[in-house]
Amino acid sequence: MRIENIFVHCSAREFGDALSIDASHKHRGWSGIGYHFVVLNGKPNAWMDEKWDFLDGQIHSGRPFDDDPNFEPNEIGAHVKDRNSDSIGICLIGKKSFTDKQLESAKTLLVNLLDFTGLEINDVLGHCEDPNTRKTCPNIPMDDFRDYLRGKLSLQSLQEAISRHIWGIYGE
Ligand SMILES: [Zn+2]
Repeated sequence: MRIENIFVHCSAREFGDALSIDASHKHRGWSGIGYHFVVLNGKPNAWMDEKWDFLDGQIHSGRPFDDDPNFEPNEIGAHVKDRNSDSIGICLIGKKSFTDKQLESAKTLLVNLLDFTGLEINDVLGHCEDPNTRKTCPNIPMDDFRDYLRGKLSLQSLQEAISRHIWGIYGE
């Protein structure tokens, strides 16, 4: 099946990595991590306060994804109901904030994936933009995020837009 969209998600937790997401998705009875890529924020787990700088913005591979822009059965993810067979899923660790390095890494990853798949920036959607969900995921204002991908919005302006967006969702 040809890939039509790339969906952006957040983990809805302020910490984590591909291993912890794999464990939680297996716990739901899935075969394993449902996202193709995870962008770390430097806090891989809950029990250590320190942040690992080298993990901030690091990209972990999740669900396998090979060298052509079509999905073989083993590459189909689990991240947007009814859209898994024709979309890539990337997940940013976080809920109410995302680091500069995460947003920069996500941009690099997405620019490369768009090039690889032949998709356009408008084909990058937030999970919340799927008409069949009521989730706020990825808690990022997607028009601003797409402008950031286009180079029309600075990283700092995107961060400010995210802060306002999160305030609108959680009131803090
Ligand atoms: Zn999501």
